[in-house]
This record gives sequence, structure tokens and C-alpha cells, in this order.
Amino acid sequence: MKITRIDAYQVRWSANDKPTQHSAFVCVHTDDGLVGIGEASPMQGGIASLAIVKHHVAPALIGADPLDHAVLQDQLLHSLVKLGPEGALTGALAAIDIALWDLKGKLTGLPVYKLIGGAWRTALPFYASIGGNGERSLDDVLRVVEARLADKPAAVKIRFDNDRTKLDTDIPGDIAKARAVRRLLGDGYPLAFDANNGYTTGGAIRVGRALEELGYWWFEEPVQHYHVRAMGAVARALDITVSAGEQSYTLAAVADLIDAGVRMVQPDIVKMGGITGLLRCAALAHAHGVELVPHQTQPTIGHTANLHVLAAQMHATKPAEWNDPSSRTHAVFRNPPKPVGGMFHVPDGPGLGLVVEQAELDDRRVGF
Ligand code: CA
Repeated sequence: MKITRIDAYQVRWSANDKPTQHSAFVCVHTDDGLVGIGEASPMQGGIASLAIVKHHVAPALIGADPLDHAVLQDQLLHSLVKLGPEGALTGALAAIDIALWDLKGKLTGLPVYKLIGGAWRTALPFYASIGGNGERSLDDVLRVVEARLADKPAAVKIRFDNDRTKLDTDIPGDIAKARAVRRLLGDGYPLAFDANNGYTTGGAIRVGRALEELGYWWFEEPVQHYHVRAMGAVARALDITVSAGEQSYTLAAVADLIDAGVRMVQPDIVKMGGITGLLRCAALAHAHGVELVPHQTQPTIGHTANLHVLAAQMHATKPAEWNDPSSRTHAVFRNPPKPVGGMFHVPDGPGLGLVVEQAELDDRRVGF
């Protein structure tokens, strides 16, 4: 099997979408007639990653064997490293890797989770990841949290998503919201708090102590992601599990977080490495006795690829992330991932197991 063509384009979900709200998909075509589909991190519409695929990755992969995906990824990461390696390049390579695994599954007739060693489980609980709570009033936070309970999540995470150029803007207000959500959901309900890099080291420790008292399960990205030692200092100072890593773009960067003292890492399959990269992160985390709980907020390809890896993970210690309701609708797929009775079921069709509605995809495709 040889790669004959790679398409990289944005997908528009509604007529009013801005270019920065589009998804970033790749389709890898082969001489067997099989097509693999992948997704890049859609930050700013994924334009930078799509451009890298179109101008630098696709020309290098024509004629390559998709089954060489790990070799191809490492070759491209090292030859194009000065375009990245953070963000745009690793998102591009993640999209390609996911598409090549999809192809490997379609070639063999097996789901990805079988190809990576088999599933410990094919039904996975999820947590409702609820963004934008920094700007909301306390009452609105509770209203939004309550609405998400209809899907029967196994846990709830409240994200603050504040302006990252300002720190410690409203610590008492943030703690009050955490307390109100605890009161709303009751003492035993699993809760997480995502600071989205909003605190100083001291501010984070103060918030973390409050979260410990409130029985929160984990405390995510308390300080700026690039302050790795500070992230570790907060993690070491607190009893609550401190997590980070959704803004790590290489295996070495995840290793640095672990070395600093972070005990739960959250690399994202569409941001770094794709399925190959996330499997490497899982091995790294397992070797260090650190939890791997991937970040994942893209509701179709990214989510499904992530589920395959989580199905194959022995120590799946937290539920899978499921983001806010999104305009990135499911119309493009015949069998989009949707929770049923509080669980996602990993597709068992070949590759990712997603069936594309080609006419819908073509209709939403934005030329690039
Ligand atoms: Ca986060």
C-alpha cells in the first residue's frame, strides 16, 4: 500500500463559523483505494498545521507506505523541527499519524484498539469538561453544570479559561464557585478544577488547599504551562493531584513535567504524536508511576482516536474528557461518538471505526 494523495482542509460546521472556528482534517489516499482520516489540533482553525501538511508533509509522503507511520513521523519531526516543534508541526504530524492508523485498520479489517494490543474495556466513562467559568456569575456556573448532568458524566471538571496575561485575578471568587459546585453535586461526587494557567505559585497553592478541603479529585494547570518548575513546585506542595501536559508537544516535554513533580499528565492526541505519540506517553507515564489522563476536546475524530488508546490502557484512572456542546457537529459521520447511559463505546469497525458521510463532508469542506 502506497500513499498517493493527502488532502488537508478545514471543515465548516455552520454558515456563520469564522475560519478560526473550523476543524482541521486530513484525508490520506492510497493506491489500494483506502482512505484514512485524521485531525489536527484546531487552534486558530488549525490553519498553521494544515499549511504544514500541504506544503511540507504531503510532498514528502507521496509513495510512502502508511504502515511505516512511526518511522515517517520521526523523520518528519526531525527534518521539519525548526517549524515547531511546538503546536503547528506536532498538530500536523498528529493528524497524519491518526489517518495512517485508520488506514492500517482498514487494511487489516481491525479496530485500532486491537492493533495496539487489545482493550481492557470497550465502554468508557467520561467527565463533563465545562469551560468559561471564570467569566460566569456563580449562579450561571451552577446552571451550566446542572445542564451537563443530563449526559450522566462520571465526573465534572470546571474550567476557568481566564486571560492568561493576568494572574490571581479573583481567587476568592474562584474558590466560591468551587464550593458552590461541590454543594450542588454533593460530597461524594467526583470533581475537578482547571485553572487554565491562571495563578501564581502562591495563588495556586492557596486555591489547591481549598480544593483539598472540598474534596476535589484533581487540580489542572494551576500555573503557566511554560513554568515547568513552578508547576512541579505546586504539585509537590499539595496533596491534591496536580495535572498538566495539554500544552506539551514532545515526549521529552512530558518527561520534564514528570521530573518536576507533576503526578498526572494530559498530552493531547491531536496536539502531539497522534496515536503513536500518545502510546509513547502512556509508556513513559506508566514507567514513572504517573497517571496518564489525556486532554481531548474535539468531539469526533480526536475523541474517537483517544478512546481507542484509553481502551488499551491498563491503568485508566480517570474518565475520558468530553467537552462542552459544540458547533463541531456530528453530521459528517454516520456513527459519531455519543455517550449512552454515561458511557462511550469504542467503535469496533476497521481503523477508527468512524463512517464518513462523504456528501456532508464535501459540503462543509473549506478549500485550503
Ligand atoms: Ca485544561
